[in-house]
Order: sequence, then C-alpha cells, then structure tokens
Amino acid sequence: MDKVKSTLKDIREADGRLNAMVEDLEKSNWEHEITNDSPHKAMNTKGSQVLPQSGNTRDTYIQLLRKDVGKGDVVTHELKHAYNIDEGLDKTINAGKLPNGLRREEADAVNTGNIYRSAKGIPLRTKFGAWEVPLVPNLLYDNF
Ligand SMILES: [Zn+2]
Repeated sequence: MDKVKSTLKDIREADGRLNAMVEDLEKSNWEHEITNDSPHKAMNTKGSQVLPQSGNTRDTYIQLLRKDVGKGDVVTHELKHAYNIDEGLDKTINAGKLPNGLRREEADAVNTGNIYRSAKGIPLRTKFGAWEVPLVPNLLYDNF
C-alpha cells in the first residue's frame, strides 16, 4: 500500500471522529487530493500545507513534505484544514484570531491533530510557532 494511503488508514482507525472527517472529504462534491509530488505551481518549501486547486475555491490539495507522509498528526492537521475549507468553516466559525493572536483555523487544526496524538499516546501539541494553543474542549468544535 502506498505510504499516504497507509497513513490515512491509520488516521481513520485512530478515532471515529477522524474517520468521519475523512469520509466526508471523500464524499464531498469538492475535490480533495493528497500529494507529496505536486504538479501544482504553488509548491514551495514552507512545509506541509493545504493549497487551493486552480479554479474552484473549495477544491484543495494537501501538499506533504516527504518527511511528513508517515506522520499521522501532521496529515490529520492538514486534513482538518481541507475539511474546514470544504465546509466553509475557515471563513465562518474559524475566521479571525484568538485573543493571543493565533488564527482560530490553526488552533482548530492543532486540536484536531491532538485527537490523533491522544489516540496514539503521543504528547499533545501545545504550540503553533510562537503561539500557545488553547487545548480542548474550548476550541475543538464539534463540526465533523
Ligand atoms: Zn495549519
């Protein structure tokens, strides 16, 4: 099995909410793609990230750095961004910043990555760059 697929399987098996998120992305009318070999122009070295596909605003692709392909917490984080774009949550409930300046969208994605970490017994991520990330339950919206 290809490494992205095995990471995705691992994420789906880790927690029912993550499984539901991936299922919603698969069933979506918008296009979502995961790649570590991007044909898209926006490829850069800033790190694994979600980028728009050209044309439709809610179509995404997750561009993974090669070192992140097997990292379930990183892939879960990026999947949540794709999910939020798909559902328009990045422009609604997650628009704007927390009082400490961290973008709500990132706080949400980190907390979602923490669902995976929690299921795997990995210490929770508490920082995003220089920012402290407020942990659940305050910021993990029940929006899967
Ligand atoms: Zn992010």
